Amino acid sequence: MTEEMLSKTYDFHSVEQRLYQMWEEKGYFKPSNDPSAPDFDPTKKPFVISIPPPNVTGELHLGHAMFVSMEDLMIRYNRMKGVPTLWVPGTDHAGIATQMLVEKELAKQGLKRDELGREEFLRRTWEWKEKYGGRITHQIRRLGASCDWTRERFTFDEGLSHAVREAFVTLFEKGLIYRGPRMVNWSPALRTAVSDLEVEYSEEPGFLYYFKYMLADGSGEYIPVATTRPETILGDTAVAIHPEDERYQKFLGKELIVPILGRRIPVIADEYVDREFGTGAVKITPAHDPNDYAIGQNHKLEFINILNKDASINEAGGPYAGLDRFECRKKLWEDMRAQGLVIKEQPYTLNVPRSQRGGEIVEPMISTQWFVKIQPLADEALAAVKNGETRIVPERFTKVYYNWLENIRDWCISRQLWWGHRIPVWYCDDCGEMTVSRTDPTECGHCHSRKIHQDEDVLDTWFSSGLWPFSTLGWPEKTRDLEYFYPTSVLETGADILFFWVARMMMFGIEFTGKPPFHTIYLHGLILDEKGQKMSKTKGNVIDPLIVMEDLGTDALRFTLLVGSTPGKDSNLSLKKVEGNRNFANKIWNAGRFVIGALGQIPAQPTGKPDWTLADSWIWARLNALMRETERLFDTYQFGEAGRQIYEFFWGEFADWYLEIAKTQLAEGGDRAYTTAATLVRVLDACLRLLHPFTPFVTEELWQALKKASLAAGLTPFDAHIDWEEALIIAHWPTAHEAEGWEEQTVQDFGLVQEVVRAIRNLRSEKGVQPAKKIGALIAAADKAALLEAQRSTLCSLANLEPTNLKIVAHPEQKPENAISLVVSGLEVFLPLADLADPEQEQARLAKELAEATGQIERIEKLLASDFGSKAPAQVVEKERQRLAQFKETAEKLQQQLTAMKK
Ligand SMILES: [Zn+2]
Repeated sequence: MTEEMLSKTYDFHSVEQRLYQMWEEKGYFKPSNDPSAPDFDPTKKPFVISIPPPNVTGELHLGHAMFVSMEDLMIRYNRMKGVPTLWVPGTDHAGIATQMLVEKELAKQGLKRDELGREEFLRRTWEWKEKYGGRITHQIRRLGASCDWTRERFTFDEGLSHAVREAFVTLFEKGLIYRGPRMVNWSPALRTAVSDLEVEYSEEPGFLYYFKYMLADGSGEYIPVATTRPETILGDTAVAIHPEDERYQKFLGKELIVPILGRRIPVIADEYVDREFGTGAVKITPAHDPNDYAIGQNHKLEFINILNKDASINEAGGPYAGLDRFECRKKLWEDMRAQGLVIKEQPYTLNVPRSQRGGEIVEPMISTQWFVKIQPLADEALAAVKNGETRIVPERFTKVYYNWLENIRDWCISRQLWWGHRIPVWYCDDCGEMTVSRTDPTECGHCHSRKIHQDEDVLDTWFSSGLWPFSTLGWPEKTRDLEYFYPTSVLETGADILFFWVARMMMFGIEFTGKPPFHTIYLHGLILDEKGQKMSKTKGNVIDPLIVMEDLGTDALRFTLLVGSTPGKDSNLSLKKVEGNRNFANKIWNAGRFVIGALGQIPAQPTGKPDWTLADSWIWARLNALMRETERLFDTYQFGEAGRQIYEFFWGEFADWYLEIAKTQLAEGGDRAYTTAATLVRVLDACLRLLHPFTPFVTEELWQALKKASLAAGLTPFDAHIDWEEALIIAHWPTAHEAEGWEEQTVQDFGLVQEVVRAIRNLRSEKGVQPAKKIGALIAAADKAALLEAQRSTLCSLANLEPTNLKIVAHPEQKPENAISLVVSGLEVFLPLADLADPEQEQARLAKELAEATGQIERIEKLLASDFGSKAPAQVVEKERQRLAQFKETAEKLQQQLTAMKK
């Protein structure tokens, strides 16, 4: 095997699909210790992640790419450590999102769901799911996700529906689920209650409407009141004032007349009223405002619902019945103006609740819904984090978690949709009682009447995803999978869904299994664009991960996401960064080709014991330090930092320094070439193992080639035996050798060589010395003379020194004249001036650069004088002007240097 057998550049297109298929076919994604296998060992502790199930309607976005990369990294790392790993994949049926999508498809055919009926609509939605539901999981595969696809789940499949039924009935039996009228967020377009999560608030201009609430006693006196939603006047059942507000004391206990409708309502006192806001008197609409709702309950006020399900006005609105809510607002206000009740309208910024899905304004409305009594569940979920059973990374989110659970309200779990788990409650038409059942009943559980009908509503999607970590393993059945793989290990997800999803899994997990569902919650931040802005379609700054993978490779995308991440913190992503990491993948590839090439040039066997050079020992010491550091960082969830350090080592030390030195050492042939190749192989092998969880494809492909080449060359890397496992994905994680005591000195010694080389290189480049030109040097090395003398060939090759003209002495008898002196870590390096500048060559170089600059100046001046100067965007023109100024400055400097030389 030679490097010719590996393509010159890394062709990720041909590699990625082939390797993924190989991994999956060989069964590497399955747990190495499987409870249903005959050799199962229940004492081995597994590492388990349940994937955050993406919506079945989803299209891959960077959020998915982030969590898939991060979870795959954890899974691959643990798999390589020999831990039985399981990553359970699956999708969420996503009630509202899916139903809206299918409704949209139907609309294209001129159909409405009501016309189809529930059964037919569900049949068509399943049809859609079968056809397109696999799209998102295929996209997740492209990221290299090593999930066990044989255990894939869907929140609406049979097993999970069974789990949902069990959970609902259990909670109901414990008295933790109840039905009743409560205030909910109502989406008029979807005609369903929506969760707080599905409501987005936006600041929008509006008005504060001031009007007169006339006293019922005919005195002509009134209380001024302000509102942002005049139509709700129709549902007013009181006006409240602060008990200590002197302005309105005299009105307490009196009655007011509701405009237009003529109903009588009381004036009440409540400390909740803010005397400074508006007029200091507040109209109370208990059925259409969450705060008024509470006041209405305390004062036992009447609750008048004025809206139909589509947010048109109902019969309670009297003459306005049937009008749309916003039309009603206009009409009512005009009528009030005509009656002299309007005081003024004042511009006012509103915080408008809008539906995340449909965009329409959501109405607070009282409706009869199902609720989970959440406090007892929340208390347990709080305790699990407080007592350390579950830990949140980063820790600062712990406070947010506490705060949310301590202030949690009962959870509205019913949705007026069709696509979802239907509520397992049947109502009796004869006796009116409810039957709640694990299996579909045929008769009323109370009077045995057969005239029963099921609740029309379905459950909130988060109800089923709250069961995800254990329902996917077979709960409520006591399966082997559940027994062995539950509780899972780490729950990894975006910090933005800590409450909605993670807290619910915690509550349900403890409630139904008695154990928190995971020991660690790891949260990653949002991915922003390169300027730190949120990505959005309207801004046009969205990066599509599928296009990036197609153009730059999956490894490049994964490495960029992983290395850019710090737990809980948002990170910026730019294509430039991904390009940089595409270059890194190529760098790994090229280093691999070099090492494999080296294996073709070594003797079959070494003749003696290994005689390691300083460079061999240095890279080995540095590699072991890196392995120790990586281990520490992985243990503390600092994966991004680990990736950065491996990158720095690979590029900055192994490729830039050791590979260069290896060329010289290989050229010596014999045992020296053999030990060099052995070092190259063992360092590269360890690096590929360390990098595998970050960049699985390029590392597997290269490692397979390295394995073949090493075995073909019969290479025995001395004391560092390498296990050539079947594949890198299941190869063992590299562990550092224990330090033997010599490492620190070696790293320090080699550091000195590096400093000398860097200093000479810098000066050469400053003076414009041709790269190929060899120069002389005198090094006054004091007590380091012997060390540097031993590194003579390294110094010569890396700093391009003339071997016959390199002198290394402790102290020179006299300092050379006509030399530039460099001070490096207490040593002095003298470089002869004559070597640094070849006047003729230097003059030619300057002249060439001047010609180039002049050419550019002419080109840009021409461009600016053309149509471009007047028609191109100002920014683009300005950029060209700046470039022109730079070239002019460069040209001037070059001219000065040339003139100085000619003197
Ligand atoms: Zn009955």
